[in-house]
Amino acid sequence: MTYDVIVIGGGHAGCEAAAVSARLGARTALVTRSRRDLGIMSCNPAIGGLGKGHLVREIDALDGLMGRVADEAGIQFRMLNRRKGPAVRGPRAQADRRIYSSAMQNILADYANLTIVEAEAHDITLDDDNCISGIQTVDGTIITAGSVVLTTGTFLRGLIHIGDKKIPAGRMGEKPSEGLSGTLERFGFALGRLKTGTPARLDGRTIDWGSLSEQIGDEKPVPFSYLTSAITTPQVSCHITRTTDETHRIIRDNIDRSAMYSGQIKGQGPRYCPSIEDKIVRFGERDGHQIFLEPEGLDDDTVYPNGISTSLPEDVQREFLKTIPGLENAEIRQVGYAIEYDHIDPRELTPTLESKKIAGLFLAGQINGTTGYEEAGAQGLVAGLNAARLAGEQDSVTFSRSESYIGVLVDDLTSRGVSEPYRMFTSRAEYRLSLRADNADQRLTPLGLEFGCVSSERETAFTERKTALDELRNRLTSVSITPNEACKRGFNLNLDGVRRTAFDLLSYPDMQFDRVKDIFPEIGDAPDNHIEQVQTDAVYAVYLKRQESDIAALKRDESRIIPETMDYSVISGLSNEARQKLESQRPRSIAHAARIDGMTPAALTLILAHIRKGVTRPSSKDVA
Ligand code: FAD
Repeated sequence: MTYDVIVIGGGHAGCEAAAVSARLGARTALVTRSRRDLGIMSCNPAIGGLGKGHLVREIDALDGLMGRVADEAGIQFRMLNRRKGPAVRGPRAQADRRIYSSAMQNILADYANLTIVEAEAHDITLDDDNCISGIQTVDGTIITAGSVVLTTGTFLRGLIHIGDKKIPAGRMGEKPSEGLSGTLERFGFALGRLKTGTPARLDGRTIDWGSLSEQIGDEKPVPFSYLTSAITTPQVSCHITRTTDETHRIIRDNIDRSAMYSGQIKGQGPRYCPSIEDKIVRFGERDGHQIFLEPEGLDDDTVYPNGISTSLPEDVQREFLKTIPGLENAEIRQVGYAIEYDHIDPRELTPTLESKKIAGLFLAGQINGTTGYEEAGAQGLVAGLNAARLAGEQDSVTFSRSESYIGVLVDDLTSRGVSEPYRMFTSRAEYRLSLRADNADQRLTPLGLEFGCVSSERETAFTERKTALDELRNRLTSVSITPNEACKRGFNLNLDGVRRTAFDLLSYPDMQFDRVKDIFPEIGDAPDNHIEQVQTDAVYAVYLKRQESDIAALKRDESRIIPETMDYSVISGLSNEARQKLESQRPRSIAHAARIDGMTPAALTLILAHIRKGVTRPSSKDVA
């Protein structure tokens, strides 16, 4: 069997990598153990969120699959941070687990240029020049190709921990992948261990729903994909409960039985997505930790209790669940567990996600030290795109930090590496005012067309929308009014003599399009979603200059020395993660701080402001 590109693994990175490669016209093989792997959500059946929702929109703008599949499977859509500015809003959807994977399988089943090969990859083969020549499956079959994209997620030497019980597995019920870790070591990769965890799944029929507060989704669900006109899947509610003092006591009394705290797990877990035992040890009792009870599907009673992932033994999980309101009689369908797995250092990759050591070998997803479906999908798209371009002897392409979250993700990974599973946050992007979820198509679809990864269906839809938006913008900028005239019409403007266009007026707080239209009836009508888009552009146009100057100031200040006595505990706004890393690494300068894995532009700006105020911790000499 001979292909242009082989993608190993049919998870979230693998599906996007294979699809984009096929869209470029490369003969692509997606090698995964079973077709049923495609679109499986190993953990929480939810797509999007803060920062992650931006990635889904960007994948969609480049004609990827995740947004459309999530629109089909979404059973509760919520725009997170709706009360804040559009730049930090995060589209999120709770998904029906079965619909999600079957929708992904259906799309890929008929994808032109794509063959799904049900097999387990055992080894990757090289030619005499140390370039990729193909793969070997566990039954000895050789499949040849000039590029390979490796996306094996948590499967490389995966080891599940439930208390002191250890089960070799890639995720619950599936055996780990053993051969490929050896391959990577043979190629000279230094492998590290990371860890992630998941809570017990509950039988929803045994939960006392009446005693819990309900969380309903958005009245008008906003789709992820620019190609979805409306969400038609039925929508459901989630519910909220909390841990109690008794829950905390049980966990504290059994902390040494947790795989994490007994020292059995060596790999670092995600600090910002801690297990319940971690929350209790690190953040104390508080008045309980919130738990979102999320349904796993429309025809499925299984409930995902979001917020209590754990590596405690099964008996302790059962005991502490009984102490949580509404879960007193809840039955467990699958116990919670932690999993440790091998990952590579992503600094060994170029910004196209190709290995620096082995030409033609690309890596994407959790294997690169990230966590999350969206981060995996975004990397899959970058790796698959470049693998196919390499096969077609085209130049490689990259995404910059200033044009996309995909660019931020890949740059963070390949330049800073990871010390814990990496997830996306809006604070990681210095250009976040322009990198909004609402304008991902405007930013990236033209680029996707240039790179050859956008289908004609999307090209048509994009061109129509862009033409309509440009036309509306032109109408709004072609009419103007003096501040005096505007004041007479009830607008409260600075009387500075500068004429304001209808576009400028739309940027004022709480401005309604109809009010602007009262003054300028000639601007006519437009669909609500176009008005909303252009109004958001108008609001942000004012801030973009400030963004540029903030970034320039940050670059100027990179050499600024951080006082040795800096007290990070008093800088408000710093995340716990940033604070801990700064305290332990005590960077000497802003440039040094910027290189710490996980340090965000927002955190650097806070440190700079603090230095300028001249407030530092008294040194021991001062105290003496
Ligand atoms: P995966 O989705 O794991 O896909 C890997 C694919 O490769 C699988 O289909 C597998 O069958 C296939 N494969 C493996 N080896 C081979 C081989 N040798 N040959 C052929 N095919 C192979 N993310 C979050 O955002 N938040 C969380 O709280 C969270 N918790 C998690 C908890 C657990 C227990 C697990 C397992 C994952 C969790 N995740 C979480 C992570 C999320 O599931 C992953 O980030 C995401 O699935 C990674 O996508 P991927 O494509 O890299 O890998």
